[in-house]
Amino acid sequence: MICGSTYKLTWHEIFGGKNRANSMRYGLCLRICLSCHKLKQNDANFNELWHKKGQAMFTKTYPVLDFNKIFMKNC
Ligand SMILES: [Zn+2]
Repeated sequence: MICGSTYKLTWHEIFGGKNRANSMRYGLCLRICLSCHKLKQNDANFNELWHKKGQAMFTKTYPVLDFNKIFMKNC
């Protein structure tokens, strides 16, 4: 979903580390190709942008759940 490639796709969990499982559980994953993943996974601007978007998506999709409690953060 970054470069449009359909070759060697992978999932990028929007929230990594201890929130990787939460990202998968709540569908906060991006379908991107391996080379974009390599470029972007440690890109602070990219991650900050998607942390904000991910939290907004979560709040919209799961209005009864508390993002801050589940992910232990507020973006
Ligand atoms: Zn790509």
